[in-house]
Amino acid sequence: MPDAPHDATFPYQHIYERDGFTCRFCGWNGAETFSHWWVASFSVVQIKPSSHGGNHDADNLVLSCHACAQHKGDADCDSLDEARDLVAANRAHAQTWFSKHVKRDG
Ligand SMILES: [Zn+2]
Repeated sequence: MPDAPHDATFPYQHIYERDGFTCRFCGWNGAETFSHWWVASFSVVQIKPSSHGGNHDADNLVLSCHACAQHKGDADCDSLDEARDLVAANRAHAQTWFSKHVKRDG
């Protein structure tokens, strides 16, 4: 991938690049196609949010798809593993609901 000029809409481009344009929670690969990128609606989220004393250092930031960012929310996590467990639990709950109300074999 050629070096792109830094764009004001991607202030955390270094995090996007470090994380391989892939959601650190669910593994969604936004680099696969533009559609994958678009649907992901990526953002950089804090593992420990500012509201709980977190900072904006690289080791407190991860790339996240929109869905995982919504489920991580403002939860106070001390590690990426803790945040992943939280998102995974929310995803499992949503999948149960989906299977019951939307598509039984989903
Ligand atoms: Zn995700």
